[in-house]
Amino acid sequence: ATPTALLVGTGRGAQLGILIKGPEVLESTRKVDTVVLDKTGTVTTGKMTLAEVIPAAGVDRTELLRLAGALENASEHPIAQAIAKGATQEVGDLPDPEDFTNVEGKGVHGIVDGRGVVVGRESLLADWSQHLNPDLAEAKARAEAQGKTAVAVGWDGHARGVLVVADTVKPTSTEAIRRLKSLGLTPVLLTGDNQTVAEQIAVEVGIENVIAEVLPKDKVDVISQLQTEGKVVAMVGDGVNDAPALAQADLGLAMGTGTDVAIEAADITLVRGDLRSAADAIRLSRRTLGTIK
Ligand code: ADP
Ligand code: MG
Repeated sequence: ATPTALLVGTGRGAQLGILIKGPEVLESTRKVDTVVLDKTGTVTTGKMTLAEVIPAAGVDRTELLRLAGALENASEHPIAQAIAKGATQEVGDLPDPEDFTNVEGKGVHGIVDGRGVVVGRESLLADWSQHLNPDLAEAKARAEAQGKTAVAVGWDGHARGVLVVADTVKPTSTEAIRRLKSLGLTPVLLTGDNQTVAEQIAVEVGIENVIAEVLPKDKVDVISQLQTEGKVVAMVGDGVNDAPALAQADLGLAMGTGTDVAIEAADITLVRGDLRSAADAIRLSRRTLGTIK
């Protein structure tokens, strides 16, 4: 392709809300056959809300919200923000945790009102020898079967409740997946969230391939593995934890609504945070290069 044609391509991209780092990016875009999509914030809005509060028998709902909310208030995670907001609305001002640790891809733990509190995946609570009783386990399974994310809460050595947060699929995601498929691309949903939630979202948007329960640091390995299998991989993400995977992918696309770290690691920014632009970008590069060769 001539430099002029490539520049015309990148210019056309800008009009479509696709910011391309350099003309050479178009060349790698053309060969892509697999598109890995981060779930939260990419396929879904990432704007979670607290949908349900389930205290264990004998546990006070207000206390559950106060302790979990206080801890999550110190975290930036979309799940944490939803819990902190919902808790504040119901119980008012939350105390500052005396201690706080974020465990990437698992949850948070710390000290609130002198109590050791854990909020996150069941496996994080298990690290603290806290286990969901059958009622809580059932509540969690029911929420997950509906595609919602259930987070466990424990303190003083026991699991004390489950908080359900719900994210919604972006209105444009289903159409975006349809367009990617019509370009002959295979979409893959990649997430740290659990298998049931991931599959529910995948079905909703028309994705057949799901890779779930992947820790943030392991997302990059998923990309490498697909490349080892001979796939030419595009990755679309938004979060800090997506950045290494975006860099590893043959083509990295960041949501313009996402974090700066993701945008810096990517080759292309989808300015409007609209997943349909990912398909537009691939179609554009094929057309730009195809017309010249
Ligand atoms: P994704 O890959 O979908 O962007 P993450 O890797 O950030 O998700 O998180 C994976 C899972 O870890 C979440 O679905 C949740 O169960 C748990 N988790 C992570 N951070 C938190 C938190 N601050 N509070 C509660 N749960 C959390
Ligand atoms: Mg994300």
